Amino acid sequence: MSFARLTTSVCFALAAIGAVSAQSTIVDPVPPAQPTGAPAAPAPGGNGAAGYPNMPTVFPPIDQTVMIPDNLLQHPLVAEGMRKVQAAVPASLLNLPVAKYVGTPTPEYPGGAAAAAANCYWPAGQCVRDVAAQGYNADVSKCPNQNDWGITYDDGPTVAPTGQFDTEDIRTALTDLNNAKATFFVCGTNAIAFPDELKKSFDAGHEIAVHTWTHHPLTSLTNQQIVAEILYTEAQIYKVIGRKPRFFRPPYGDIDDRVRAVASALGYTAIIWTAPRDTEDTTAQGADGVNKILNTARSWFQAQPGFISLEHDISTTTSEIAVKLLQSIKAAGPGFPLKIMPVGTCLGTSAYADGLAPAPNTTTLPAATTTAVPAPRTQSPPTATTAPRTGASGEKSLAVSIQPGAWVGALVMGVLAVL
Ligand SMILES: [Zn+2]
Repeated sequence: MSFARLTTSVCFALAAIGAVSAQSTIVDPVPPAQPTGAPAAPAPGGNGAAGYPNMPTVFPPIDQTVMIPDNLLQHPLVAEGMRKVQAAVPASLLNLPVAKYVGTPTPEYPGGAAAAAANCYWPAGQCVRDVAAQGYNADVSKCPNQNDWGITYDDGPTVAPTGQFDTEDIRTALTDLNNAKATFFVCGTNAIAFPDELKKSFDAGHEIAVHTWTHHPLTSLTNQQIVAEILYTEAQIYKVIGRKPRFFRPPYGDIDDRVRAVASALGYTAIIWTAPRDTEDTTAQGADGVNKILNTARSWFQAQPGFISLEHDISTTTSEIAVKLLQSIKAAGPGFPLKIMPVGTCLGTSAYADGLAPAPNTTTLPAATTTAVPAPRTQSPPTATTAPRTGASGEKSLAVSIQPGAWVGALVMGVLAVL
């Protein structure tokens, strides 16, 4: 069957050893080969395990090329999650067939187009459930109010070597944009690798949401695996910021009623981007590619129904695009017709299970002069090694150099041990 073209963004596995940058390339997942996961990284200031039942002491590997190991699926965290799922979700949804993994982004959906439509499979025509039903919450795919722009970044947090763009640069550009806030959908692999970055984003007032641990298309996973993907990421986020998110975004938009229901039973609402507002930033190649993406996104600068955009802080190229787009918004000055805000703010609801109030909507551009566009953290162009590239299979892969900060890790024999 033919599905709509999808954003082929990926989170990445990372390797960081002392001052030596390493490369890691996404490849097709393989069956779990490692019986153990990564020891839990120290929390940099969150609540740690306090207040979070069944907090794991071992987390899945910081490697998205392997599935969450079987032994970690047996943890009480996952068992309790499965109990909630089975109590809340009708069997008719829980028993929908699992799609066949054939590489990213889109699995082979069982039953073809008819089943995809019946089960509201997003990649098939961008189907969303606008209304809740027995077993699942309604999806969110837009901001309800005219001219509201819910701005989101997926796959981070990332820390790039000096001279390259990363999550910190996006935060700086948001701050320069009249202290604007955004929603970051983070991968567990990067949340455990860069807990300080995660904490800084939260402390700066940005929303933190779940984007799974291994970034697999969720319809290709069992119910138990989906629970583990969400809850290990949630647990790591809780350790760092002391909050439990209630927004999640399925990688590649790969969601159907089964995935929707499993996530809903865990307290989550699926946040999909508004289909025409995908920057497709992960496809950018070179300076021309960056400019092409930016020109498309600048065409959005007009009064319109509220929407949610999709960008990434996964690579230096996507982060560069994000920074330059924010600078373009600032340069537009007080006549800019849209209001930048995180998803919770545009919905008027908390991004967290404990009800923490969303950021106030204060992002309308000031009337002050805006001719001085702030320089990025560096003037150096991104290096070729950090640009997205297309693998032989046509599947997008990334080679990313990582420079550790206070946190240091080591990737040894496929298992990254957090020191
Ligand atoms: Zn993603």
